[in-house]
Order: sequence, then C-alpha cells, then structure tokens
Amino acid sequence: MRALILLAVLVGIGWWGLPWLKQNLPAQYNPFIPLSVTDPPGWVTRYKLERLQSDPAACLDVMRRAQQAGLVTFREAPAMQGACPLVRPLRVQRFGDVALSSSFLASCPMAVASTMYVLRSNAIAQQSEFHSPLRRINHVGSYACRNIYHRSQGRLSEHASADAWDVTGFQLRNSVRLEVGKNWREPAPASQLLHSLWRNGCDSFGNALGPDYNAAHATHFHLGMRGAGYCR
Ligand SMILES: [Zn+2]
Repeated sequence: MRALILLAVLVGIGWWGLPWLKQNLPAQYNPFIPLSVTDPPGWVTRYKLERLQSDPAACLDVMRRAQQAGLVTFREAPAMQGACPLVRPLRVQRFGDVALSSSFLASCPMAVASTMYVLRSNAIAQQSEFHSPLRRINHVGSYACRNIYHRSQGRLSEHASADAWDVTGFQLRNSVRLEVGKNWREPAPASQLLHSLWRNGCDSFGNALGPDYNAAHATHFHLGMRGAGYCR
C-alpha cells in the first residue's frame, strides 16, 4: 500500500512538475527549447544537437537564426549525387568576424557544431595568453567521397557525408599564427592554445582527433559528428 501511495505521489509530481520545468528551466538546460549556437556545452546541448540529425527543418532553423544574429554566413548548396550523396548540404562561408581559408560544404548538423566550435574557440583565444580573438581558420576541407584513411575497403569516412571538418591552423587578430603541424608541441604558449582549441572540439563535435591520435592527424584536427565527445 505504501509503495502504491509513493508511486501516486511521484506520478503526481511528474504530472504537475513537467509543465513547470518546461516553462522555468533556463534555455540551455531545457530540452524542450530549440538549440541555439550560443548554448554552453553540456549533455542537454549534446542531446539537442544529436536530435537535429533526424530533423532537417529544425536544423536549418538553428542555422538561420545564427545567420540572422551575424554569427555565421552560409547558403544552401545544391544536393550532391553519386556514391556519397548529400541531400541538403550547406556551404559555410565565414563565422561572424572569423574568416576561412575557403568556404566548405557541411551537413546541417556539422554546420551547427562548427559554428558552436568557432564561437567557443574565439572566446578561448581571447582568454588565452595572447588575449586576441580569431581572425581566420585554415582548413583542408570537409566533404570527400572516400573510406576512412583512404583505404580501398572498409566503412565510409565521416567526410563522405560532409560530417567532418579538417582544421590545420588558426590566425589571431594580433597576427599570431598557430599551425597544428608546427606548433602542437612548441613554443609553449602556441602549443597550449592549440591543445585548448583541440579539446574544445570534443564539446561541440562527436569526436576530435589531433596529432597525439596517430600520424595521419599530425598536421590537422579532425572534427567529426560520430561519437559523443571522443577526444584523442
Ligand atoms: Zn578528417
């Protein structure tokens, strides 16, 4: 009997509590409020980002709101046919004041993750020893119709669905340049900031692979959507 009463009380709390939570939880902790690219990292943000993978309209809406806020510039790109089709890819041109070595194709969820990544990276660079935000991000692309590690057999790379982005370096507004291939280990301030920028990848993306992972990543960060915070 006691157990039944307890159960009834718990159901009651759930029944009345859920609408209260929906209305009163702050947006970044509230799974019922759509994702914003300015949401802080955490499991609720990760959950919302994962949900976008199966909801293209909601995903595009997140990107449009980010563009209206001046945080990213993108356009909808034509679909890609062939062995590695892309249904509704986006072409990302810049992230607010942060320029790119070239525009890149992204699946919508990857475009959202990369916008969040650059926003947070900008803040990290600003708070670093260099006290300077980002001016430019150098990269070697996102979409490539191939298997993992260019193998002839095996599963398709995240790049085959434009779900990953390979970043090779950063230029700060004060003209300091950080290259993954040259500065991963030295000098110390550059190396430290690069390590922070790599680790930041795991908060926005499913995985972030850097030079310590293997020789194939000696010169770039691979930032991809598979996984849930896999940092190597
Ligand atoms: Zn890659």
